[in-house]
Amino acid sequence: MTGHSLLIVEDDLQLKRALTVNLEARNYQVNTAGSGEEALKSLAVTEPDVLILDLGLPDIDGVDLILQIRQTSRIPIIVLSARDREIEKVRALDAGADDYVTKPFGIDELLARLRVILRRNDQQEVPQKSIQTADFEINFDKLSITGNDGQSIKLTRIEWGIIEFLASSPGKLFTAKQILTNVWGVAYAEDTQTLRVHVSQLRRKLEPEPATPKYLITELGMGYRLVID
Ligand code: CA
Repeated sequence: MTGHSLLIVEDDLQLKRALTVNLEARNYQVNTAGSGEEALKSLAVTEPDVLILDLGLPDIDGVDLILQIRQTSRIPIIVLSARDREIEKVRALDAGADDYVTKPFGIDELLARLRVILRRNDQQEVPQKSIQTADFEINFDKLSITGNDGQSIKLTRIEWGIIEFLASSPGKLFTAKQILTNVWGVAYAEDTQTLRVHVSQLRRKLEPEPATPKYLITELGMGYRLVID
């Protein structure tokens, strides 16, 4: 059961129709737009719970559209992008998109992304004081992490910065640039190798099996997300 409202912005009529049918069957309220202009018109009148946005639109670059929307709205955005357009996806995330799926995709993948975003939206009303996983607890008041054996896990200031930033939106994909800018500062925005080193240190401290992480997930060529389940 959902009842959440969506705006699908997609110029491919067949895909737009298939998405509408599938999402309506799962009780989403679906509105559609076929261009950037239509999308902006629709958003001016009503704000849906989530925007699903094809990056390849006929009238405007999808990334420019995100930048425009972000000037006035924090609506969650999932972008749809072609498989060979990795750079475009990173640009979209840097511009403020929340997540992406790569075409062609299965409806289950999109539904999973939607669930993560909607769950996060509901939780954002109350700021979390701690996050409990099967292996450790993150305590934001005490700035500490405790293993499920009761032992405190020592993090460096940088490692804590990374965890705190990723945990601000569990499940959300952050680009390397966003993490570096937030934790280190703008001057370090391109220093992805440094980030990789710190993430692997964090995995050694937090993950039961650092080589196959289940919390600190790498999205290859894109960034990282903290998965809490
Ligand atoms: Ca398109």
